[in-house]
Amino acid sequence: MKCDLLTLFPGVCSAYLDESILKRARAKNLLDVRILNIRDFTTDPHRSVDDYPFGGGAGMVLKPEPIFRAMDFLRQDGESRRVVYLTPQGTPFSQALAEAFAAERRRFVFLCGRYEGIDERVKTLVDEEISVGDYVLTGGELAALVIIDAVTRLVPGALGDERSAEHESFTWGLLEYPHYTRPREFRGLGVPQVLLCGNHREIDLWRRKQAFMKTMLVRPDLLDKLQLSAEDRELLDEIKKSFPGASPDD
Ligand code: SAM
Repeated sequence: MKCDLLTLFPGVCSAYLDESILKRARAKNLLDVRILNIRDFTTDPHRSVDDYPFGGGAGMVLKPEPIFRAMDFLRQDGESRRVVYLTPQGTPFSQALAEAFAAERRRFVFLCGRYEGIDERVKTLVDEEISVGDYVLTGGELAALVIIDAVTRLVPGALGDERSAEHESFTWGLLEYPHYTRPREFRGLGVPQVLLCGNHREIDLWRRKQAFMKTMLVRPDLLDKLQLSAEDRELLDEIKKSFPGASPDD
């Protein structure tokens, strides 16, 4: 993934990008991120990036000039770019979108808003608006980092073990099954016996059943979107019947 981050708070972004998997992905050139401070594209002595909203009202609005200048600067290299503005008003981000972004050849620009947001005219530069959830954050930085993180995990070579991404929540349509590690017993809490038996068929079946149970309890909407095999249908029926209060038709 290649991207430019346009932000007023570069330190917020670098703090996260310089740790763990993203740091390693950058070192291996699997993730190429450039952070640009919108303030560096101001021309007035106060380096002002915001102003009062026309028509009155609370808060400040990000001025168009520095953002247009930043985009002019980026475009000088002639590289094709997909410009994303992070906003709670955008298309909800999802694993499916992360997969589409991972397949994108163009360089991304992630424009992070602040205050009340950007001057509407900046949107003439924007290809799409993306939201990371139905809540309002202080700025677009966390949202951009969420996207970069989710997409980088899908870039081959970014994770220590490629299999980690295979069964993750949403990737296979279900929430993931529970995990346990050593010790076998901790403060009287054990580990399900099946995980210690060494029979991988049984372990896979147990995990799939757990994933179905978790999804059914927490996100039943995901089950409606699944293409179930005959085996899965049987497993799901068995789980439904084992729930207290289930009627024979459930
Ligand atoms: N006044 C805006 C509104 O009601 O839609 C919210 C502005 S918010 C305080 C400041 C900035 O944070 C936004 O311009 C956007 O870049 C970012 N932001 C806030 N919530 C977000 C979300 N759920 N997803 C993506 N970006 C978000």
